[in-house]
Amino acid sequence: MVQKKKMKLKKSVVVTCKIVGGILVFCCALFLFYSYQINQLVSIGYSKEASKNIFWRWKKDYVLSIGENQTLNAAFESDDYLEDNLDSYAKIKYQDQAHIIRNINALIEKGYSNSNISMILAHGNDEDVSEFAKRDKIQYLEEFYSIDYAKLKNYDRYVDYSNETGEDEETTVLYVNLDMDKEDYIDTTLVSTFSTDMLVNKHFHLDSDFVPENLVEVDEEYTNGEVQRGSKVAVSAFLEMAKAAEGEGLGLVINSSYRSYQDQEELCQTYADLYGDSYVERYVAKPGYSEHQTGLSFDIGSTSSNIFAESEEYTWMLDHAYQYGFILRFPKSGEDITEFRNEPWHYRYVGKKIAKYIHEEGITYEEYYVQFLDQN
Ligand SMILES: [Zn+2]
Repeated sequence: MVQKKKMKLKKSVVVTCKIVGGILVFCCALFLFYSYQINQLVSIGYSKEASKNIFWRWKKDYVLSIGENQTLNAAFESDDYLEDNLDSYAKIKYQDQAHIIRNINALIEKGYSNSNISMILAHGNDEDVSEFAKRDKIQYLEEFYSIDYAKLKNYDRYVDYSNETGEDEETTVLYVNLDMDKEDYIDTTLVSTFSTDMLVNKHFHLDSDFVPENLVEVDEEYTNGEVQRGSKVAVSAFLEMAKAAEGEGLGLVINSSYRSYQDQEELCQTYADLYGDSYVERYVAKPGYSEHQTGLSFDIGSTSSNIFAESEEYTWMLDHAYQYGFILRFPKSGEDITEFRNEPWHYRYVGKKIAKYIHEEGITYEEYYVQFLDQN
């Protein structure tokens, strides 16, 4: 009797073990299968989080057929994922923006095509796109945003400016990005950090207490006899250039250099007394708006002629200044953009790389700035 009971017990233990074992094996197999699926997605570039969501949403085959795709990855990582928009996610060019998927959904809702949405995302940051997605579908998307540096947030200003002036899209975008649709000296941008590529003009200004880095005096031999100062980097480049010119029998000197805010105030007053306010308005930068306050600009003269533009030094500078990091800041061809009349003597240090580009392309510093430096 006892024997029989023992046998029965043994049998049921064996059965239980078999069942538990079977379940374990099944679970292991399932886990291995799951891991394999996830790893397959990870191996082609999807994050672990995205891969899990791809798996549980039964979209693995779809995603594998597309391959690596950053926008899809972002979609499957996002709470904003909408299955209806899956094909669009796969076709829209990715941008590193926090709410990219939410914004894509909103733009699809507004009726933009996938390629239009790619274009929109490329012309603003996350916040700009979010704001843009709230407005009704715009009329001139491709006209303005096929220009690389067009900004989403400037759209209304582009439309207004081109309507008012009849300018083409490229000029409109350039001018509006430079705030030239605003009056000179009105609602201007404060530039507070010194750098050799800083932009100062009638729309970008310096504070009254702005002083350039490393102000140094220029060796008297290379001045008009008055004390001339500039930022060390510009002064060193000027001396190198002046010595090279000297090697060719030419004499370059600095006639005017760093001017403080207060110096510029006095200068404006002097000219106003001499020639009147309208002269100052047209030809002299207001305090805070003169590049001379950066310590990077020099008015250059020659030892051979009182009229620089008629000197050999002037011609030499046109051909060689860029090799030392200087540009002719207010060329005749750029008067509309710089908003200063041609000044053959006014050179600005921007560094060799930028100077070379500007020299070769024959553009103004404003145009360079809009294309390569403007971060706003
Ligand atoms: Zn000057």
